Amino acid sequence: MSKKQYRIAVIPGDGIGKEVMPEGQRVLEAAAKKHGVSLHFDHFDFSSWDYYEKHGQMMPDDWKDKIGKHDAIYFGAVGWPAKIPDHVSLWGSLIKFRREFDQYVNLRPVRLMPGVPSPLAGRKPGDIDFWVVRENTEGEYSSVGGRMFPDTDREFVTQQTVMTRTGVDRILKFAFELAQSRPKKHLTSATKSNGISITMPYWDERVEAMAKTFPGVRWDKYHIDILTANFVLHPDWFDVVVGSNLFGDILSDLGPACTGTIGIAPSGNINPEGNFPSVFEPVHGSAPDIAGQGIANPIGMIWSGAMMLEHLGEKDAGQSIVEAIERTLAERTLRTKDLGGNADTTACGKAVADMVD
Ligand code: ATP
Ligand code: MG
Repeated sequence: MSKKQYRIAVIPGDGIGKEVMPEGQRVLEAAAKKHGVSLHFDHFDFSSWDYYEKHGQMMPDDWKDKIGKHDAIYFGAVGWPAKIPDHVSLWGSLIKFRREFDQYVNLRPVRLMPGVPSPLAGRKPGDIDFWVVRENTEGEYSSVGGRMFPDTDREFVTQQTVMTRTGVDRILKFAFELAQSRPKKHLTSATKSNGISITMPYWDERVEAMAKTFPGVRWDKYHIDILTANFVLHPDWFDVVVGSNLFGDILSDLGPACTGTIGIAPSGNINPEGNFPSVFEPVHGSAPDIAGQGIANPIGMIWSGAMMLEHLGEKDAGQSIVEAIERTLAERTLRTKDLGGNADTTACGKAVADMVD
């Protein structure tokens, strides 16, 4: 249900995160104005190298009190590898959000946009348009396991996949609901039940059970190996693709890669019930190699803002941003350098904001 008034926690982070964030806000403001939505932005300087340098940690101890009541978190990019190891910056911020705010869905669109060359030959905008839904809290990325007899011939290492009924069912429900909301109403499940003989058959069983409660959704499943091949060979087959933590991780990088540059890909780490804020951030990192030059592509940040509005229930406002992005990308002079254009970050952001209607 849309409530028209939202408080957004804005965390620009590091590197180009600081440069693309103002463009994301500019476009969000334009869309909000056109669609009668009110957005209030609160800025936070933590989750950045600067903050870490001053305070010796990525975030203040009371970070949850500071951002836990916001309707959503709009996040730039974290990490500055020359100064701070990636695992420190990541585990000190984004991973804390995911865990403490129970963001059990990782969502990424795979959509070929005009003006963006796809590495898949002969594909045109409209040919590729689907979502990857990744389970974000359990599965293969559990810490259950261990190492025995290290540095001996008997060395033994094991790590277990953990699937819970609650964890599997809730991600499947989200994916089926998403499929049901789309014109094609088609869901594809990633499995490997021919090789992984306990957890993956369980996953398949739960897909089948969930499918019964969504009679309007057509569904199928593929083993992950052939599924990755089909992403490349037949991306037009897909509408919503759901996978466990590991399979979803692979697919959610492969999918956007099939549709071109990293500079435009958005993502959401979502708590669908809205018990906690969800995080919306571009797929790219802080890009130290181009930071400070004003040439970063702001579209990934802007598109993440569109996803945020849709998550908040403001579908029309979100959609108006996606359409504005399409119109901007179609015009070479409005694109940034990574897409063969000559616009800088601000010019591209302004162009998208002007196109919003
Ligand atoms: P991560 O921080 O996720 O580990 P990374 O640091 O390896 O990723 P990125 O920061 O995403 O990688 O940068 C990878 C490459 O893509 C760099 O060469 C960077 O300049 C380029 N790149 C990333 N984002 C953008 C953007 N928005 N516009 C233009 N180029 C970008
Ligand atoms: Mg990085």
